Amino acid sequence: VNGVVCRSCLVTSYPARGRCPVCGGGEVSVVALAPAGTVAARTTVGPLQIGEVRLDDGVLVLGRLDADAPVAVGARVRHAPDDAIVRFVADA
Ligand SMILES: [Zn+2]
Repeated sequence: VNGVVCRSCLVTSYPARGRCPVCGGGEVSVVALAPAGTVAARTTVGPLQIGEVRLDDGVLVLGRLDADAPVAVGARVRHAPDDAIVRFVADA
């Protein structure tokens, strides 16, 4: 997962974009975010589970939770690289 860190206010945000969402500054650097985190909230959209994941570096990321069973809030998940979507799988 990539995010951006702002060179003006030093806030790290996600998703990666060319402008800081906090201060509006255009000087941002792409950074690799923590590969794992904790589910902060989850919902379902049809058969899909969508979760807000609080990464270990504190950044909140929205992504798909891929699991056969419902993933509980508070569960540990890790990023599962995918070209098209942000996807997490539950820690074994
Ligand atoms: Zn900023």
